[in-house]
Amino acid sequence: MELVIQNAIVITMNAQRQVLHGAEVVVENDRIVKVGAPARGGKQRFRKTIDAKGRVLLPGLIHAHLHACQTLCRNRADGYELLDWLRERIWPFEAAHDAVSMRASADLTFAEMIKSGATAALDMGTVRHYDAVFESARESGVRLTGGKAMMDSGQGVPAGLRETTEDSLNESLKLLQRWHGQEGGRLQYAFAPRFVLSCTEGLLKEVGERARQTGTRIHTHASENQTECDVVRSKTGMDNVGYFQHLGLLGPATTLAHCVWLTAAEQRALHETKTHVCHCPSSNLKLASGYAKVPELLKDGVNVALGADGAPCNNNLDLFVEMRLAALIHKPRQGPTSMSAAQVLEMATLGGARALGLEADVGSIEPGKKADLITVDLNDAASTPNGDDPVSALVYSGQSSQVRDVLVDGRVLMRERELLTLDEAKVLAAAREHGERLAQQIA
Ligand SMILES: [Zn+2]
Repeated sequence: MELVIQNAIVITMNAQRQVLHGAEVVVENDRIVKVGAPARGGKQRFRKTIDAKGRVLLPGLIHAHLHACQTLCRNRADGYELLDWLRERIWPFEAAHDAVSMRASADLTFAEMIKSGATAALDMGTVRHYDAVFESARESGVRLTGGKAMMDSGQGVPAGLRETTEDSLNESLKLLQRWHGQEGGRLQYAFAPRFVLSCTEGLLKEVGERARQTGTRIHTHASENQTECDVVRSKTGMDNVGYFQHLGLLGPATTLAHCVWLTAAEQRALHETKTHVCHCPSSNLKLASGYAKVPELLKDGVNVALGADGAPCNNNLDLFVEMRLAALIHKPRQGPTSMSAAQVLEMATLGGARALGLEADVGSIEPGKKADLITVDLNDAASTPNGDDPVSALVYSGQSSQVRDVLVDGRVLMRERELLTLDEAKVLAAAREHGERLAQQIA
């Protein structure tokens, strides 16, 4: 036996949604082998013990839409709508990256993820330097499904981000070969065509075919902003999701970020094809995009996950913030019982696991699953008293600063808020230095 977490309030997220008070969770190597009452009698010897008395133990939270490449541009892109935000601030910044700044950006992203209780992410890079993101994930220990952005078309795309259709595919396939399945499956590749307006039809069709051939996931943006939807309609004669369906890109291996402006037909297509949606409430509010009709999507049986999107449109990468917003913003329209805490926590755990195609391995605390776990201490002024429903306490009053321990694949990445795989002071210093350098480069 390698590790046991004792005395916690375990929010299992299993099929019965059991919450087990004082249960112990035993981890052997990278997997959970036992969830239940502590063993009585006969002394068991564990190499490591974490006493989580009074704390909540839950599955690590999962970002189903993230841009680790944008984090150094945090607090430098406020006050824009989507297309201006991309053309004036984000694309020039992304184009200025080199491999060193990209590594600093990814290290900062994963440090923030771990400190805020997220153990996995579905990430979209910029066009170049995606190896640096995988290298950072390999060393920091987070679970990453990611891919380089594909951009072989589009207005206002800087020279540093332009690529040919052939180069875009070749570079993606090379990254897929190098990284897919590495670290015991902790790192996975996903094709990431940026959005309809930055991709030729030829590229999107090829992505659909290559993804099917190689069993790889597709991660893209859809119907985020009304102007974007109008331009897509005038370019393709179709709605965003309808166009993806027409090209064969929808399906259970595809995750679409946003889906704010859907027609009834598009919503039906998502349901029929089992395509996943990632809800990004902070980003949608800050870029004045609107917000997805999540209660309706959930009612329709569409899997909806949660994500922070990029740091410059949020400006945090904190799923506690996203959970709270997701629980709140739909209520004025749908009533106070809509978007229950249980539904929202499911989006941030199992919903994310499904969106990453990892539901057999993560998203709940059950024997056989990977040990991606976090402990949260709700006993501070912000969350006391806890009431009698720890899920409600987490979603409505929980804060990322209450996350104490984080494990991925059974490896402890944070213990009592101290990062064990990243040197936090160095990561922050590098992020300041390279963030400033890139900002000056494009000024
Ligand atoms: Zn995005």
